[in-house]
Amino acid sequence: MSRALDSLVRERYASAIAQGALLFTESTIQTRKERDVEFEIRFVPALAKKPSSKPKERMESKEFINPFLPFDKRLFVKSLGSSHNLLLNKYCVVPYHLLITTAEFRQQGEPLTQEDFSATLDVLNNTSSQHIVFYNSGEESGASQPHKHLQLLPMPEYIDAPPSVDLWLRDKPAPDTVHTSSSLPFAHFGVRFSNETLTPSMLINAYSTALGALTSKFGQDSSYNMVLTTSAIILFPRSWNSWHGIGVNSLGFAGLFLCKTRDELLLISQVGIFNILAQVGVTNN
Ligand code: AMP
Repeated sequence: MSRALDSLVRERYASAIAQGALLFTESTIQTRKERDVEFEIRFVPALAKKPSSKPKERMESKEFINPFLPFDKRLFVKSLGSSHNLLLNKYCVVPYHLLITTAEFRQQGEPLTQEDFSATLDVLNNTSSQHIVFYNSGEESGASQPHKHLQLLPMPEYIDAPPSVDLWLRDKPAPDTVHTSSSLPFAHFGVRFSNETLTPSMLINAYSTALGALTSKFGQDSSYNMVLTTSAIILFPRSWNSWHGIGVNSLGFAGLFLCKTRDELLLISQVGIFNILAQVGVTNN
């Protein structure tokens, strides 16, 4: 079933590309199975030219211009109430990569609020494709922009759930309480939803429960990634934003790696994705 927002997103995406406002970068896709779950590795040589920096560094630089306030109107999809905007990601490796930005400036890394989740549900409930929602919080999370934003990516059709979430769900965790799975070799704090009909209060409660557990163990300033699906929300504390030059954000924990060179591809196949995630995350002991 196609819903109203699907066609609006497709229309805005095509028009942004035609106007040169959205830059889609081709990639070669490989899949890699580890621990019985599948990861997607995209080889994107063009990314090698793109400088990366952390949100604070970026904001403190003299050249900083906030891309989300004001945003490029050609990337605008719609307002989500008065508090948020739905934008197209300017640099797409996966088509229809969406951003939910706060209408007023808020710092990336501030805890998510019920309004952030209402805006997210406003999008999820009006699209037909399954999405992974993610939030990169803190300097080591792999975030680059300092203005608060959540991100949505259509989930590849061949997977039911992002690999870490898939493994975690196989434990059949009790709902509404933090569950840690021995299948994942890095610290994580996940809460499964008791109901398939998601509400903003359900999401903020699950997120706050997971975040409370994470900060009580690793401190208020801990960087973390959040992956949200219709079944669960999982937070992954982070110690490093990259590994041997390979940038890792929430998408790594959600199952997608971007590689800029053949050496990086080789390194991933030699070391293994779970081992890399354990190094940029926090090990369980
Ligand atoms: P993050 O790197 O996790 O902070 O996410 C920020 C996202 O914003 C990146 O995926 C960028 O591709 C995207 N981005 C950067 N500049 C713009 C822009 N001017 N308009 C829309 N998206 C942008």
